[in-house]
Amino acid sequence: MTELLRSWVDGANRPDTDFPLNNLPVGVFSLADGPRRQGVAIGDRILDLGRAEAAGVLGFGGRLMQDGWNGFMASGRGEWARLRRELTMLLAEGAAARARVEPLLVPMAAARLHLPFAVSEYTDFYAGRHHATNVGTMFRGPENALPSNWLHIPIGYNGRASSVVVTGTSVIRPMGQIKGPEDALPRFAASARFDIELEMGAVVGQASDGPISVAEAFDNIFGYVLLNDWSARDIQAWEYQPLGPFQAKATATTISPWIVMAAALAPFRVATPEREVPLLPYLAEPGPMLYDIALEVGLAPEGAPETVIARTNYREMYYSAAQQLAHHASCGCPMRVGDLLGSGTISGPERGNRGSLLEISWGGKEPITLDSGETRSFLADRDTVTLRGHAQGRGYRIGFGEASGKILPARG
Ligand code: MN
Repeated sequence: MTELLRSWVDGANRPDTDFPLNNLPVGVFSLADGPRRQGVAIGDRILDLGRAEAAGVLGFGGRLMQDGWNGFMASGRGEWARLRRELTMLLAEGAAARARVEPLLVPMAAARLHLPFAVSEYTDFYAGRHHATNVGTMFRGPENALPSNWLHIPIGYNGRASSVVVTGTSVIRPMGQIKGPEDALPRFAASARFDIELEMGAVVGQASDGPISVAEAFDNIFGYVLLNDWSARDIQAWEYQPLGPFQAKATATTISPWIVMAAALAPFRVATPEREVPLLPYLAEPGPMLYDIALEVGLAPEGAPETVIARTNYREMYYSAAQQLAHHASCGCPMRVGDLLGSGTISGPERGNRGSLLEISWGGKEPITLDSGETRSFLADRDTVTLRGHAQGRGYRIGFGEASGKILPARG
């Protein structure tokens, strides 16, 4: 385990900051009505990389002077590593460059955060074993909880890039076609079982055209974000057979504003769980490619304090993002810079570790009581849901910021 790298920037050496010098996550911000600019989070500040490049403090061929990270990601792994190296030198305690860099810092509290990259395509997986077992038990019974393909394939579906939004964006409760088990006919109505899915998102930073190995896939992942895959369970239950989710998942997907680069998470790599059945060779992992990242979900009704309703860990996944990406490319599917891969809902073994309300309330049969005294089976209008996550180092953490969204009433 590595130690805290000390920085001269305010707040960067606090043990509870998400953004010590070890992290250096990248995002896009604006001030007042100003343009969107690339930045890196450090302590309570954002380093304005567009201005840093314009001032000659950094030189990356203008790839830090854009309004998203796709161009920089495309420049390749060598440049990813060089940016981290140069930022580490500029921001380290005692850095000679401090006087030149300090005017390029802006207070994070004054900044508006935007989507950090243009999402090329969005794919969502179903790779958490506890989640798949819980949902399968509810839908098909304990005998057939895991589909027969589940231990062999990282199952996924092609989602909608257009639905991906950054933290702080409100989410309007979806309308859709719903037919309950007792209903003779479907009706078009507001979802009454609107839910969250606690996930991690992997951001593809290198294009590929044709099959790639798991090792290559691992290297092609630029970084990770928190991801909430908002899900309308009543719409999903009626529409999902035989082609999988469609409208139930296409309302919104919220991500955290900072891409934590894979390099920052390297000290926290862990292996996927032991395989119950051997995987086909093209899915074999040459080393630990999952990460130890503590995750939590907070739910706050309007005007009431937040209750943490779930705590779990990314290491609970059965498949790593590298395995998912290798599987995705295995048929020859071209992958692009800016592809976003959702991990699948991350649940753990206990009730308190469940990453969706569907599981927490067991299909609505066991509502939870919040600290405010209210109960929830699914989301109510004006609830705010916030995902948080961090990898814990010795005396520091690698955090992601928040992925938060408030539910607004349906437009029915
Ligand atoms: Mn999902």
